[in-house]
Parts: sequence; C-alpha cells; structure tokens
Amino acid sequence: NKFEDTNLHPCMKENIALARYYVPTPVQRNSIAIVTAGRDLMACAQTGSGKTAAFLIPTCSALFGQALTLVARPKPYDHRFKAKPLLLILSPTRELCCQIFDESRRFCYRSMLRPCAVYGGAGIHGQIKELDRGCDVLVATPGRLVDLIDRGKIDLSELRYLVLDEADRMLDMGFEGAIREIVERKGMNKDRITLMYSATFPKEIRGLARDFLKPNYLFLK
Ligand code: AMP
Repeated sequence: NKFEDTNLHPCMKENIALARYYVPTPVQRNSIAIVTAGRDLMACAQTGSGKTAAFLIPTCSALFGQALTLVARPKPYDHRFKAKPLLLILSPTRELCCQIFDESRRFCYRSMLRPCAVYGGAGIHGQIKELDRGCDVLVATPGRLVDLIDRGKIDLSELRYLVLDEADRMLDMGFEGAIREIVERKGMNKDRITLMYSATFPKEIRGLARDFLKPNYLFLK
C-alpha cells in the first residue's frame, strides 16, 4: 500500500520519494492500476484528492520505461520542427496549468521527458521557443493549444496519453468546441489512452466520455 511496493519505474519512485509522498491516495491507487492495465478512465475527483499526481505518476512512469525509444527520437531544437508530445494534459485555467506543470517537472526530474506549458493570457512567442527545445509532456489550456496546432507548432500524432483535467470546468468555460477540435481532429493518435477527471457528471460530460473514451472504459466514482 506504499508507492515503494508498486511496479512504477525506479526513477519515478525516486521522484515520488523526493516529493515526500509515501502512500497513494485512493484516486492515485486506482489511476495507477488502470493506466498500468492500459484502460481508459473516467474518474470523479475533487481538488485536493491528489488527482494531479494520479494522472502524472503512472503515465510518465510508463513513458520512462520506453526510454530506449525516446533516445532514438530526434529532439527538435529548431523552429522548423513540430513538438510531438507523448502526454497531453488539458486544463481549464492558466493557474491550474502552471500548477500541473510544476508537478510534472517534479515527476520528470532526471528523466528523458521534457515538460512544457502553454496557456492563454501570456505571450505566445516565449511558449513557441520552449516548444522548439523539445516537448514530451505538454500541459495546455484548450484555446492556446488550438492556436499552436493551427500555427503548425504541435503535432499530436504520437500522443500516447491524453488527460482531460477538471472536464466539467472546461465545459463551463466554453471550451467544448476547442476540446473537440483537438481530440477529433485528423492527426490525433487514435491508439492513445485517455483519462478524464471531473467533479460532476452532467449530460455534456457523459457525451464527451462516450465520444473520447474506448467503449470498455472504467468509471470510478
Ligand atoms: P491535487 O488534488 O492534485 O490538487 O493535490 C492536493 C495536494 O496533495 C497537493 O499539494 C499535493 O502535493 C498533495 N499530495 C498529492 N498526493 C499526495 C500523496 N500521495 N501524499 C502526500 N501528499 C500528496
């Protein structure tokens, strides 16, 4: 019942210990099991439940395990390259985006994965410069992400994991169109694993789950 006793990658276990997390919260225990099993997930999760680590830990840990493949990936260090993230996290606000980014840096410490954050209300050119240095883990608000995809800076064809965090809040903020544009666009990897976290489950959220998750997805109350 401790992180130490899980099958997570040794580098991830070290980073969890550095963060001084010892025992997974319920949403973390469930998310680790489901991602390890390769299933899609819809989870009920409130702020404070530890949901950020719940999606970052198992997804990044699985990507660390594929480090050999990652070494072979050309790192895009110049502006002609597109960022091809392996993990994408969509979040409703700039504040949440920055919190998730901070936590992703913690968990990706001394790994092959480079995290980036892109969000509205800040200059786009600085964000493009960061993407040009390589981006494996991308934390984004939907509007800014659509903008960057349209500019040809981001390609989601190699995405392995898609996370929708606070899905109900994203819909309340009017992001459904942008989210659908991102997920249903040609070029989005259809073989990805998708995880949705939401505090409430109105009709619109169930509709997104039906459209984005594989039919055998797990629902966690
Ligand atoms: P969140 O629900 O993701 O906003 O996380 C709430 C807070 O709990 C954050 O400050 C985390 O750093 C902390 N936290 C998350 N998971 C754990 C854990 N397993 N043990 C101790 N603290 C944790």
